[in-house]
Amino acid sequence: MNLADKDHRHLWHPFTQMQSWGGTPPLIIERGEGCYLIDIEGRHYLDGVSSLWVTVHGHRCAEIDEAVRAQLGRMAHSTLLGLSHPPAIELAAELASLAPEGLTRVFYSDSGSTAVEVALKMAFQYWQLRGRPAKRHFIALREAYHGDTLGAVSVGGIELFHRIFHPLLFDVLRVAAPHAYRCAAEPSGHGPEACAAHCLAELAELLAARSPDLAALILEPRVQGAAGMLVHPPGYLAEVARLCRAHQVLLICDEVATGFGRTGPMFSCQAEDVRPDLLALAKGLTGGYLPLAATLATEEIYEAFLGEKERTFFHGHTYTGNPLACVAALASLQRMRDRQLLPWAEARAVTLSRLLAEQLASHPAVGQIRQLGLMVGVELVADRASRRPYPPALALGARVCQAARAHGVLLRPLGDVLVLMPPLAITDDQLGHLVSAARQALDAVLSGL
Ligand code: PLP
Repeated sequence: MNLADKDHRHLWHPFTQMQSWGGTPPLIIERGEGCYLIDIEGRHYLDGVSSLWVTVHGHRCAEIDEAVRAQLGRMAHSTLLGLSHPPAIELAAELASLAPEGLTRVFYSDSGSTAVEVALKMAFQYWQLRGRPAKRHFIALREAYHGDTLGAVSVGGIELFHRIFHPLLFDVLRVAAPHAYRCAAEPSGHGPEACAAHCLAELAELLAARSPDLAALILEPRVQGAAGMLVHPPGYLAEVARLCRAHQVLLICDEVATGFGRTGPMFSCQAEDVRPDLLALAKGLTGGYLPLAATLATEEIYEAFLGEKERTFFHGHTYTGNPLACVAALASLQRMRDRQLLPWAEARAVTLSRLLAEQLASHPAVGQIRQLGLMVGVELVADRASRRPYPPALALGARVCQAARAHGVLLRPLGDVLVLMPPLAITDDQLGHLVSAARQALDAVLSGL
């Protein structure tokens, strides 16, 4: 049996309708090299979505390879339950020094979902320990995505993914996301500032009414990735943070997607000088090498858990703080510094913005291009004036991404939003290839409709 047959017979792929998966041979990736992935036939593809938003430096980064190899020569794993090890200690200190001021404590887990799950449980238990047991509810944005474990799904709001699990979830209070292009309050659309003001007024009202019952608000700072790359108007995050503080509601920033330079600064919340109480990190933490996540907490939250046994945070995963993953993260952060990767990525974001303006902005099927740093969503619409979407059954976004493969680019859409999220180390020439492939793929699919 060849690899494709074995895949069809035994693999159950995530977020994939397996009924249709078996119809065509899978694209099987064997190797990576810089910003390219290479399949078992030797074909090269530009990794246009950073292998699901994780790759920072590209693949086969010598410094990270070497750090993992050296750690393999010491040990692959030892637990953090009752023991410690140098990579986890060094990385915790490093993350605390990079994070917004006040986030001094690092709790490891292994995925974005678990980093969020940990933050939710910490926020809940914090108020119990502080003698405010009624403060146990959460606020989240309506279109939020925070992962797939049940706590993370509870604060999520993507109907297609989450509807089926409703009976298993806890109740969450929702506020509108400031998404002016498809504003729920004003369907004909109004400006981003008016939209943000409307959303903030709704939030202020909710906080004023319910703060004695509220543990925390969770959001993705400045851009909601899986919701369709919804870029929030400037100042929205800072005002959310101010309102939360004023009402004694903890702020959880989920930087699983936005962290490690994707939006410009190391962490997106730093662009608005926001210091959350809890910060969830994963994806780019190891440069895209190994599964590792971290939830950072303030000293005030940490101290609430000190004392008798019952105050312990009873949470942990077997591979929490795996040393191979920790050394990958340390090497990735070192390389980001050595190569001045943040300024590099900021300059690439300018190039990307120009290319998008030249090649896609005036395309009749492009409704809106949303960009923050190297996170981009290109929303496809059937009619630009009315912003009417294409019929979902057409699966236009998926077809365009499929067609991009013929142009040597790997993309993955969010519905009819094409996502471009290249590794931070991408070059201008590679960005040119990425955008022109997206444009050609779009034209090819539309001409065949
Ligand atoms: N939070 C955000 C903002 C995400 O974008 C994601 C994944 O895309 C998650 C959490 C979940 O991360 P993971 O898939 O590593 O569990």
